[in-house]
Amino acid sequence: MRWKGRRQSGNVDDRRGMSGGKMVAGGGIAGVIILLISIFLGGGDSGDLINGLQNQMQQGQQTERTTPLSAEEIEMREFVSVVLADTEDVWNKIFSQSGQQYVEPELVLFTDAVQTQCGGASSASGPFYCPADQKVYMDLRFFDELQSRFGAQGGDFAIAYVIAHEVGHHVQTLLGTSQKVQQLQSGMSKKEANKLLVALELQADFYAGVWTHHNEKMKSILDENDIEEALSAANAVGDDAIQRRTQGQVVPDSFTHGTSEQRMYWFNLGFKTGDVSRGNTFENLDAF
Ligand SMILES: [Zn+2]
Repeated sequence: MRWKGRRQSGNVDDRRGMSGGKMVAGGGIAGVIILLISIFLGGGDSGDLINGLQNQMQQGQQTERTTPLSAEEIEMREFVSVVLADTEDVWNKIFSQSGQQYVEPELVLFTDAVQTQCGGASSASGPFYCPADQKVYMDLRFFDELQSRFGAQGGDFAIAYVIAHEVGHHVQTLLGTSQKVQQLQSGMSKKEANKLLVALELQADFYAGVWTHHNEKMKSILDENDIEEALSAANAVGDDAIQRRTQGQVVPDSFTHGTSEQRMYWFNLGFKTGDVSRGNTFENLDAF
């Protein structure tokens, strides 16, 4: 992906290398918010995140940078800022075409652990979106793991795809889809509720594809390998692939993010069509 010298978003909050700073006790955050959280990795990690959230209903402010950033880390911030700016350009355009206003999300870079309005989270959760503060949270070391542990081929567009997926959850929040799913889930069995979560995740992959389509149309920045990098990342983080690596077997009823095949299918459909209206992943839920 050609990114150097292009516009960088001002909505990146780089908290890497910062000390804890002042911690402010929060509270009053309803448990329902937890259900709205979508984290990038499914399976056992989501349970850990939810436990972490319930234990730490705190909102923190990190103020001091104790470790200076390396040149490589600064370059990564610049790259992430260009990708975020690209998502802003595309979604601002798509929203305004339908007479709606796009509210740009913030993207927080952190190391190890972070406090959010959805509670505390650790790097183990993988990148995630918090609807309560409308921010995307990422520990960039996740991408090393994506290659070493989950076998993705890596590359800059793998990162762009993950950012676009998390921004997809922001779009779902702005459109009210996430809230609707959360309402429907109450009173459902875990199995049925999981199907809705899978549909929500696949739609975020579809939105990442839609973004890729329009961004390329507007800017022509893709390199030859980029789509392959995105598909490889989508393939590596499918629930079946993750479960096979972490549990040695696949348990479809516990899927919350979709199989590798489903994730690649929906990203590709979004990329090929660029048509937001094609993204009804909630049809044929029983096919999941
Ligand atoms: Zn997700």
